[in-house]
Amino acid sequence: MKKIKNVPFWVLTTVFVIIAATMPLNTGKNKATIINFNQFQNDWTNNDIKSFVVQDDEMSVSGTLKNGTTYNTVVPSVRLFQFIQDHPKSPTIVETYVKPSTSLIWLELLPNLLFILMIVGFVFIFKKQSKGGGGNNGLMKLGKSKAKLVDPNQKKISFDDVAGADEEKAELAEIVDFLKQPKRYVDMGARIPKGVLLIGPPGTGKTLLARAISGEAGVPFFSISGSDFVEMFVGVGASRVHDLFEQAKKNSPCIIFIDEIDAVGRQRGAGVGGGNDEREQTLNQLLVEMDGFGENEGIIMIAATNRPDVLDPALLRPGRFDRQIFVGVPDRNGREEILAVHSKNKPLAPEVDLSILAKRTPGFTGADIENLMNESALLTVRRDKRLIGMDELEEAATRIMAGPEKKSRVVNEDDRRLTAYHESGHVIVMNLLPNSDPVHQISIVPRGRAGGYTMSLPEEDKSYMSRSRLEEEIVGLLGGRVAEKLVIGDISTGASNDIERATGIARKMVMDYGMSDTLGTIAFGSGSDEVFLGRDIGKDRKYSEETAHKIDQEIKKLIDAAYTKALTLLTENRSKLNAVAEELLIKEKLEGVEFKEIFARS
Ligand code: ADP
Ligand code: MG
Ligand code: ZN
Repeated sequence: MKKIKNVPFWVLTTVFVIIAATMPLNTGKNKATIINFNQFQNDWTNNDIKSFVVQDDEMSVSGTLKNGTTYNTVVPSVRLFQFIQDHPKSPTIVETYVKPSTSLIWLELLPNLLFILMIVGFVFIFKKQSKGGGGNNGLMKLGKSKAKLVDPNQKKISFDDVAGADEEKAELAEIVDFLKQPKRYVDMGARIPKGVLLIGPPGTGKTLLARAISGEAGVPFFSISGSDFVEMFVGVGASRVHDLFEQAKKNSPCIIFIDEIDAVGRQRGAGVGGGNDEREQTLNQLLVEMDGFGENEGIIMIAATNRPDVLDPALLRPGRFDRQIFVGVPDRNGREEILAVHSKNKPLAPEVDLSILAKRTPGFTGADIENLMNESALLTVRRDKRLIGMDELEEAATRIMAGPEKKSRVVNEDDRRLTAYHESGHVIVMNLLPNSDPVHQISIVPRGRAGGYTMSLPEEDKSYMSRSRLEEEIVGLLGGRVAEKLVIGDISTGASNDIERATGIARKMVMDYGMSDTLGTIAFGSGSDEVFLGRDIGKDRKYSEETAHKIDQEIKKLIDAAYTKALTLLTENRSKLNAVAEELLIKEKLEGVEFKEIFARS
């Protein structure tokens, strides 16, 4: 309201200034007595003239006399100037020279006007910013924390909205309970952790959990993202941290939640080009503030990160974020529960079985599942159906794994054949190996960047991989390339991703899992994960040239053995390979059961 009222005020001011600036133009124009030049000369020499204005385009002089009357004389400017030169004017006379035409006067005044307008504009903007609805963008507010105080009355998220994270919820429930009835804990002499760190891969529901705590706790909840502390100006972050804790102390008991804390909490003195002053100052301030509030003071810090490895160790020591809760990728039951949560407001067809879907989506995070349900809803609308069916859910899941189908992409016959044999090579090899997961679907319809895909799904979620399983996985990955070589006689770039993955597994087996007989149970650290900026890039290799050479040899040995194995299997089962590939060329897509049937009969 205030802003709007100000507008006319400023417009008026501007107009007034302009009028005032052009005012002198009109003086002396009214009611002037006309005198001839001789009279003017007389008055001049008698020192009767108080002021004069020369308007040389009109060849006239005007002004006032000492007795107050205004006068006007017509005289060519040359003559006038000659006269003035010959008869020096007395110092009391006020002289004004007006430039020729009025339009030029405006031009002359234009820069001044613009200048005035600019100043008025500046004042206007500045006023608006420093007042503007308590916004955070004013210069004055730079050092204030950007924490949002979550309004307890807004739509609440409760623990019920977070599915399948029972252990995590149980731990956090204790903290909520402390905030609700601190006396119980204090009487028992218990020390409630000051800081809780939620660790887990992206999309597993860390932010959601924190919001659920705020919904459950019924105390003020300050929420801020780590990156909000990081500013261009050194010192701003630190002062924001300070401000945040000031606010928190005033509102205790309360919760402070710092999302993506790795943005501020990275190890000091690390990264490319040494430390980052601003970030280090911010982190130091955070550490100081965390030490500054006592135990059981009613402030609990919760932070979330998916990169605990880059956090500064000082953050993790007792008395700071000493309680760590790992929020993992959900298991099958967890997925089913999350599916249920996200299908609450969606019309599902009666045939939909969420447990089958849960089985079909290993490795999906909560965010993936949310995305899956949304995709399936969109698909259903696109297909003009009333209810979301199993078909749409399956398609959505495949989309999330492999990208959308590209039926329109024109694939020439040679490429289709190559893809059909490549994919069949994968499935035949996998199906012949004892430990491999059952085949779920094979397709040669292009999807995402891939020309085709083979999808196998585990019977159960697994948490460990044995050496024989890993070896088999490499064989399965190479099956595609081997089939190309065997049938087409040439090899293609389509296998590049398979080869990359196979090599990756072999490298990990040798370097991380200690699975090489020659090199023994030693972790050499593949190092590839650590090129993230949080760590020193020039991290020195902890093994000799000679060992490096041996590592390479071992990796090659694993890959070569797998290749030979795949070649043997496919050569021995050539008829099966042909049968599956030819069927694929006809049908484009085979389900697990169809595949098994062809495999068994050929
Ligand atoms: P993170 O912070 O761990 O990266 P989020 O908390 O932002 O992940 O989760 C992203 C979205 O995924 C949430 O908004 C929610 O819709 C969904 N989600 C994740 N985990 C769960 C879960 N356990 N239960 C229900 N929904 C979940
Ligand atoms: Mg998050
Ligand atoms: Zn492949």
